[in-house]
Amino acid sequence: MISDTETETGSLIINLTCPECGTIHSAAVVNTVCINEACRSTLFAKYNLSDNIDKSILIGRPATMWRYKEFLPIAEEKNIVTLGEGFTPIIPIENLKQFIGDNEVFWKDESGNPTGSFKARGISAAVSKAKELGIDTIATPTAGNAGGALAAYAARAGIKAVVYMPKQTPQVFKDECRLYGAELVEIDGNISDCGRLVNELAEINGWFQVSTLKEPYRLEGKKTMGYEIAEQFNWQLPDVILYPTGGGTGLIGMWKAFDELEQLGWIGSKRPRMVAVQSESCNGIVSAFNAGKHVSEFADGGFTIANGLRVPKPYADKVILRVLRETNGAAITIGDQEMNAAVKEIARHEGMLVAPEGAALWQAYKKLKATQWIKPGEKVLMINTGSGYKYLENIEL
Ligand SMILES: *Cc1c(COP(=O)(O)O)cnc(C)c1O
Ligand SMILES: [Zn+2]
Repeated sequence: MISDTETETGSLIINLTCPECGTIHSAAVVNTVCINEACRSTLFAKYNLSDNIDKSILIGRPATMWRYKEFLPIAEEKNIVTLGEGFTPIIPIENLKQFIGDNEVFWKDESGNPTGSFKARGISAAVSKAKELGIDTIATPTAGNAGGALAAYAARAGIKAVVYMPKQTPQVFKDECRLYGAELVEIDGNISDCGRLVNELAEINGWFQVSTLKEPYRLEGKKTMGYEIAEQFNWQLPDVILYPTGGGTGLIGMWKAFDELEQLGWIGSKRPRMVAVQSESCNGIVSAFNAGKHVSEFADGGFTIANGLRVPKPYADKVILRVLRETNGAAITIGDQEMNAAVKEIARHEGMLVAPEGAALWQAYKKLKATQWIKPGEKVLMINTGSGYKYLENIEL
């Protein structure tokens, strides 16, 4: 077990624990989901957290997500595969203030990450751990951004990448994969179809799969958003966080981070109300949440300009729904036309070209404000998960 000896990075990882059945898995060997056949849940990395670790360890650390390396799973420095991901800026709404009344509304702007989306965080952690475990080929199904990120980080790590992507994805997502040297396969179907194929072929070809939440460490990378939000807001979390939900990694990751930060004594027990925003065409979480259900149904109504949200049935739907309930959150859908309009509104008034997934949050904010679900004086954070530049072929100007 890694925890028996001190790691070079200071990583405090102990093991991988199943949040459903409690089965413990060693973090020193390759893992996917829980080995319990009846369970197959996403695994959560567990750390040896105590309240005698002081925040001052962060002083002078690099402005990347690896400033939190004690709470990440990599044991040896040489295995960290980084392109400078994370520690993205918090940017307040400035010129659209007529919509926000007396709220304070901020973006956490993930568009400046390597390959233009927050996928860089999860993939940096997953590829680093794969390198540490000696893996030579990594495969993933993707709706777009995860493929580009995997291709880039695999190139950096000297690992082969195989990417399965729906044909309907904008060209730039395909071109970047090929430029970074990945093997790209275009599929006539959605991300679930890609996932099925990767799953079959991975077994035959010995590829390691990093499908969303079927691999434990992408979650660890994405959770660093939660650490950053706490640090950047001076350890006082906002009241509401809006998140564009595909597979749900970021949402679950932030929730996990807040839990870890409370164990460290760096924050208190107050949690933001978490809001899952989906596209009208892929609304399984919204339907399940509003019907009071604990699992979601397969839902794919076809094309959306927010390709990151075209996930018909998230693997960790149960956990997403639990987070929404435990935080007294909400779930809301936004249509493509509203997203397109928001991309333009934010660009023209705020000087930011956000991804349609991020733009959806601005429309969700306005709706939740109008119904007074968001109350006067509350502090609201929207996660702009990616750069609008990659989506321009689908945006009406
Ligand atoms: C992948 C992606 C999402 C959804 O992220 P999940 O972790 O799958 O919920 C949202 N926005 C963008 C831009 C993405 O690339
Ligand atoms: Zn289990």
